[in-house]
Amino acid sequence: MPLQYKRIMLKLSGEALMGDDAFGINTSVLEFVAAEVKEIVRMGVEPGLVIGAGNIFRGVAGASKGMDRTTADNMGMLATVMNSLAMQDALERMDVITRVMSAIPMQSVCEPYIRRRATRHLEKGRVVIFAAGTGNPYFTTDSAGVLRALEIDADIIIKATKVDGVYDKDPVREPDAIKYDHLTYSEVLGRGLTVMDAAGIALAMDDDKPIMVLNMNVPGNIRKAVCGEMVGTLISS
Ligand code: UDP
Repeated sequence: MPLQYKRIMLKLSGEALMGDDAFGINTSVLEFVAAEVKEIVRMGVEPGLVIGAGNIFRGVAGASKGMDRTTADNMGMLATVMNSLAMQDALERMDVITRVMSAIPMQSVCEPYIRRRATRHLEKGRVVIFAAGTGNPYFTTDSAGVLRALEIDADIIIKATKVDGVYDKDPVREPDAIKYDHLTYSEVLGRGLTVMDAAGIALAMDDDKPIMVLNMNVPGNIRKAVCGEMVGTLISS
């Protein structure tokens, strides 16, 4: 099947890496995701990845216990670097050349984020993992994913989740929830659908960058999405 989207941004939540564990990184899940990424690289896709840190630390959680919010957010961003290094390791064990670029410079661990270098890596067929979010507190990795997607001119943002798209209410708790095939950015914002934080949606809307929300636990879903198959919910104008 021909590619519909050549350059993509794949946003994974930190929780997605936990699998059924209560905390941290589940090696089998990591290997599963790495294999899915390897498959699309083989097809000629240029993937950028942004990984959250909900499996390790979230700034709001620290702040709710009295921590200074900026300090807590800095810890959250550092946690994304750990997840990014783990994903790089899993990909490179599968012979997929991968670069981690951090928004917070830490040269002895990974490259600093420089947009032109990132796009060069992608052109050369390397996977690029964008670590440390946007580098700023009070943001999330959803916003970071959209921001980097705009910077590298990705054709689509794929938000990989545990459910197969966006529903009008929580499909886990409410069995009569209805799944949307397509939503506009305004509908997501207006209906308060918690698919991605509002800042990320607003940024995507500003540049008309489509977002596909899909279930990452279904093998082949990411491959189908890059070929243009409707495997989840498409958010566009
Ligand atoms: N974070 C931040 N600035 C950013 C991106 C992330 O301060 O640009 C911090 C924030 O504390 C956040 C944490 O990093 O809670 C982990 O990111 P996120 O909550 O988005 O992870 P996910 O929900 O995707 O696992």
